[in-house]
Amino acid sequence: MSAASRNVVVIEDDPQIRRFLRTVLPTEGFAVFEAETGERGIVEAATRKPDVVILDLGLPDMDGVTVITRVREWSQVPIVVLSARAQERDKIAALDAGADDYLVKPFGVGELMARLRVALRHSASRKAERGEPAFACGELSVDLAARRVSLAGREVKLTPIEYRLLAALVKHAGMVVTHRQLLREVWGPAYVEHTHTLRVHMASLRRKIEVDAAQPRYLQTELGVGYRLAAE
Ligand code: CA
Repeated sequence: MSAASRNVVVIEDDPQIRRFLRTVLPTEGFAVFEAETGERGIVEAATRKPDVVILDLGLPDMDGVTVITRVREWSQVPIVVLSARAQERDKIAALDAGADDYLVKPFGVGELMARLRVALRHSASRKAERGEPAFACGELSVDLAARRVSLAGREVKLTPIEYRLLAALVKHAGMVVTHRQLLREVWGPAYVEHTHTLRVHMASLRRKIEVDAAQPRYLQTELGVGYRLAAE
């Protein structure tokens, strides 16, 4: 990361985690603004113009998911959730409310920084809005404008559903996308419970773009939550 200062709002009531983030984030070029409550965090998110928000879910005054919902009413700032809650339903609730990613405590600095990089890159490309993005990772490349997918330079023939699944994941590359989000985006809001259908099409997509579908390099499973397309 460059030394250019970026603002991060940390919404976390645990003073030890805040102290830790206050120590490590500035070394990566972040200016840190802290909030101990959800209410204060929402104010900080509105006034500090953060490049990214780091959010705990268990806050003294409100649930972190409520913070996500309220911030999403007026802002697309990347939100990375840090939480002690490892349960799938908590992750799903946060992601479906509009969080960009999720890290379970305890987490490593390297992992946190990698997630922040992805979130920042994603919001930068969203801001640039220079047409449809092209995606490349390893030997996989996806040109959304040309609707063209290739693996090691050879064109991959996808069904329309497989293509839309992959395109949805490309738009969130590096971040976890829940089953519901994919079902809503590809099949429509009436189909958000049809996880079996999703699995079937995801399996066929994997057979086409993975060297070994049992050990996926690109389409990673977030167990019980959704999928993540590798970004690097
Ligand atoms: Ca907490």
